Amino acid sequence: MDLEEIKKEAKTYFDKHKGFIKSLKKSKKIDDKFHELHEEVFEEIDCLECANCCKTTSPIFYDSDIERVAKALKMKTADFIGRYLHKDEENDYVLNESPCPFLGFDNKCIVYDSRPKACKEYPHTNRKRMNQILFLTLKNTQVCPAVHEIMKRMEDRISS
Ligand code: SF4
Ligand code: SF4
Repeated sequence: MDLEEIKKEAKTYFDKHKGFIKSLKKSKKIDDKFHELHEEVFEEIDCLECANCCKTTSPIFYDSDIERVAKALKMKTADFIGRYLHKDEENDYVLNESPCPFLGFDNKCIVYDSRPKACKEYPHTNRKRMNQILFLTLKNTQVCPAVHEIMKRMEDRISS
């Protein structure tokens, strides 16, 4: 897959995805479809060739994430917060900068084993109750080529 082409294509699909997502709101049984396509698409996409999530967005750092990552870096929690994090408008800790300072030049995460929960779960397309995070999923089509591809295949299969 050409991930750069997929990212460009995702921009042109935004309105189509938005309309489709609105129609899915009424459908309760969408988890299985998302999970099946999540498995299928991530078989074809190598995150190490992409890392767009780590380059452009910040995970939320919960207290347990902060403690774990600070420990992995052999830093005191307060020093870690002071150096890397600030609170956003929802009062959650997020990174001061992007790309993420823990992303290596080879697109590998240097704190991978201790990474925040939000990083482990991204892009959330294998979660339960997908109908509760459809607008987050729409937003993620513009960040994650896998999410765009999942949505596109779902639209094709449901309409065919
Ligand atoms: S943006 Fe999506 S495809 Fe790219 S690295 Fe993140 S999860 Fe993987
Ligand atoms: S902590 Fe690791 S997985 Fe999370 S955004 Fe940073 S580089 Fe990516």
